[in-house]
Amino acid sequence: MSIHRTFRERVAPDFLRELAHQETRTGVATDPDPGPRLIFALVQDAVRARASDIHVEPGSIHVSVRFRVDGVITDVAKITHPQARLVINQVKALADLDPVTCFIPRDAHASCVLESGPIDLRIALTPSQTGEAVAIRLLDSQRLQRSIDNLGLAADDLELLKGWIESGAGMFLSAGPTGCGKTTTVYSLLHELKKADKVIISLEDPVEYQVDGIVQVALDERHHLHFSEGIRQMLRLDPDYLMLGEIRDAISARAAVDAAVSGRALLTTLHCRDAVGAVTALRNWGLHDHEIAEALSVVVGQRLVRRLCPHCRRNRATTDKECQWFAAAKLTAPKRVPDSEGCDQCGRLGYSGRTGIFELWRLNEDDYAAILGHPDEHALRRMLAERKHHSFLVDGMAKLAAGVTSVSELRRAGGWVVAG
Ligand SMILES: [Zn+2]
Repeated sequence: MSIHRTFRERVAPDFLRELAHQETRTGVATDPDPGPRLIFALVQDAVRARASDIHVEPGSIHVSVRFRVDGVITDVAKITHPQARLVINQVKALADLDPVTCFIPRDAHASCVLESGPIDLRIALTPSQTGEAVAIRLLDSQRLQRSIDNLGLAADDLELLKGWIESGAGMFLSAGPTGCGKTTTVYSLLHELKKADKVIISLEDPVEYQVDGIVQVALDERHHLHFSEGIRQMLRLDPDYLMLGEIRDAISARAAVDAAVSGRALLTTLHCRDAVGAVTALRNWGLHDHEIAEALSVVVGQRLVRRLCPHCRRNRATTDKECQWFAAAKLTAPKRVPDSEGCDQCGRLGYSGRTGIFELWRLNEDDYAAILGHPDEHALRRMLAERKHHSFLVDGMAKLAAGVTSVSELRRAGGWVVAG
């Protein structure tokens, strides 16, 4: 790779080539129907860059084309408004959307076949003051094929999780904010269960990734297939394991707890800060302490951190500012920490891929008794800390010591621990 090539040429070569080609061919950048080649080239570039999302964001002068790679936004091109219209027209044609300018937000699904294989896309179009903005999520089913051995769990946590799978009862909850890898964790457990020849049924809204060996049911409110009815139907199919895409309101929380206390094993995800935060979230949806205590078996809190590029990773002395952060997070600062400067192998980003940092809370008899006493989150955290429960920052410190990730990634993942 030539060192003279600019960053955008390295990241989006097909897109920029196709853009130049289409402008040359038409003379102007407003060809109403140039075919899907431009958007295919953009998606191909995004796949090659391991991006999860493509954003086309109109500004007052230029339109930014950006990729989200390993959770972080990267600028890949600045194009003109006529060029952006060309891109957006192709996106609409691909998704079978009305080509006129949209005045309300619209969502659509599309798929395209690239050299690397077929890929499904979830498209969101939104009108803005400066033009239409587009976000394209690349639905990578390979991401959900990951074995639980490769999630980044410590050996004892992995054993604990496999123990829950064997026990086959109660609720497994993957907890954390948006984009922390909850879905990947749940699907990796489902793949583990498939090996054991279990009957697995999922209830999802919508079903975005088809998985062989699992009966996947999509919620359909228009036909009255909502959470409660969906769960009832799932139970009639006599599953060993149930999977609910997400607990996101009082109805789904009630349905999940009812299924878990009926003797079935249930896997689901919940949007909250950490493992202990799950108890508060379930209380806020109207569940009683005795129901929560009876249903919960394992809660996994997690975050994703970027992996340092192995080609440009090196150790350096810990800075004073970093030492202050370690102290504020009640962690022992190491003398030296791994970091990276960026190289051609990692596109000058310094990172390549992501891994999870985890905390596993396997609830025991003491925890059930404690929850019945209605403790708040702080009291529960204190109780767990006293018996040496590891927060995900402690897991992150192990990954720092192993040179897997950097202090800045750890600070980004655990900022709220220090702030609050
Ligand atoms: Zn590198």
